Amino acid sequence: MKIDIVSVFPEYFEVMNLSLMGKAQAKGLLEIKAHNLRDWTHDVHHSVDDTPVGGGAGMVMKPEVWGECLDELLGLSQQSDSVPAPGIAADSDADTNQSDDPVSAANTQSASVNVPVSSDGSPAESDMSAQLSAPVLIFPNPSAPLFTQRDATELSHAKHLLFGCGRYEGYDARIPDYYRSQGIDVREYSIGDYVLNGGEVAVSVMLEAITRLMPGFMGNPDSIVEESYTGEGALLEHHQYTKPAVWRDIAVPNVLLSGDHGKVNRYRRDEALARTAEIRPDLIAALDCKALDKADRKT
Ligand code: SAM
Repeated sequence: MKIDIVSVFPEYFEVMNLSLMGKAQAKGLLEIKAHNLRDWTHDVHHSVDDTPVGGGAGMVMKPEVWGECLDELLGLSQQSDSVPAPGIAADSDADTNQSDDPVSAANTQSASVNVPVSSDGSPAESDMSAQLSAPVLIFPNPSAPLFTQRDATELSHAKHLLFGCGRYEGYDARIPDYYRSQGIDVREYSIGDYVLNGGEVAVSVMLEAITRLMPGFMGNPDSIVEESYTGEGALLEHHQYTKPAVWRDIAVPNVLLSGDHGKVNRYRRDEALARTAEIRPDLIAALDCKALDKADRKT
């Protein structure tokens, strides 16, 4: 999978060289490249933001810089952005003193991150691969639909993901609109009901959730089969225990020591159902009855 990330802080993604993500790059499963958006600017201050049209606090990421950058990374022909819309002032360098993170010209090089480096109601794996052979452009956005395990599963079949990290008050809304109008598969996702300073952490979260589902990524592929939010009847997982059988006077449930796999599985399934009903009743409400067995219904 080829992954391009555009950010004003590409250094954030150096952590992708660590742990399983680093190994996946070394194996050639992933090719991750973090680009500095400021490399597509033309002014001396490398401006990527401007004041909000209509007024308001903060700064908004400008469409022209994103346009040049995304056209190039998506292999589209470059468009001319020189004509301002009526009533809207042409480009200014207004952000020079107002951005929360001005970056010096010396800091505008792309950070190459060690280059080269699927039941739940979604379409079948072969369909997903076919659908996602074209690049998918993803913008993290707190006011977008929530990113879920289902999205991660689908996107783990993509050949090319391109992430755009927002900063300041966010990016100009015409950017995703334009690329949709050009036939690009554009997604906007929130990672939770809270606001972060920028999209870098959100991209890292999505990327980890997506890539760990790629065939060959995990040393033991079984470890992603039975997990929270996974499979047809997506539930929260049962509790996990390891040895010793008693720790600080707290014993693991006896049934787990019984060696009776049928009883262990039933116990775990009941616990998963009970925990999900208590913590995430919305997941129980969304359960397809076909995913429930007779004993589940009693639980
Ligand atoms: N003004 C925006 C709002 O109120 O919705 C918040 C902008 S936020 C400070 C800057 C950038 O951080 C966003 O454009 C987005 O890329 C990223 N971001 C912040 N919180 C996020 C979240 N919960 N999920 C995904 N991205 C987030």
